[in-house]
Amino acid sequence: MAKLAAEFETSAFTLEQCPRWNRVEVAIAGRSNVGKSSLLNALTGAKGLARTSGTPGRTQSLNFFVAGADLAIVDLPGFGYARVPEKIAREIAAMMTDYLSARENLAALIVLVDSRRGPEKEETRLAATARARGVEVIFAATKCDKLKRSERSAALAKFRALETAPILCSATSAEGIDELRRRIVRIGQQARRPNPGFAPYPTHSR
Ligand code: GDP
Repeated sequence: MAKLAAEFETSAFTLEQCPRWNRVEVAIAGRSNVGKSSLLNALTGAKGLARTSGTPGRTQSLNFFVAGADLAIVDLPGFGYARVPEKIAREIAAMMTDYLSARENLAALIVLVDSRRGPEKEETRLAATARARGVEVIFAATKCDKLKRSERSAALAKFRALETAPILCSATSAEGIDELRRRIVRIGQQARRPNPGFAPYPTHSR
């Protein structure tokens, strides 16, 4: 399957700064080092496109990538960074909750979880926030190339508490990448569009 053509559009630190468009959004979240940048690059094929982990300023924002006329991919800030001060971490968490619970365009959330680690409370909380308003949640278990064949079922067992089985993915071996890309494209085609010309937030008069 052809790679998704995606192009960086803008960053936002608040809901008000999010683009006003009628694209359906698929958001991607995961703790730092889970392999989010590598996965985004594998999905979109644009090397360095989503190298958000290394770009100062972009690690703490919502980053919007346009993928065609109807779809956008939103790279959510990584969480669990040891070096981020607690106050900042709390602000980022609040912004993510705002986005997940109120952003009209959001159709699906992909939660990345390290295959060997399994989901922890942050991941299940994000998923619950999205599901609470009917947003589809997809779990992707990253770096599955690191699992030996004999370790796969034990790794999958860590995900059993979730409502859906994860897609095993690897940016290195490309396992699961096509499937994940297909799911994203299908959501872009099938999700209910936000109203054209919809102004989700009040425009403040000065
Ligand atoms: P991010 O912090 O979530 O954006 O993670 P990165 O994509 O920067 O990856 C973190 C580390 O994991 C890097 O050293 C990557 O080379 C490694 N990594 C990412 N994806 C994979 C994968 O699919 N397989 C393996 N074995 N390593 C990976």
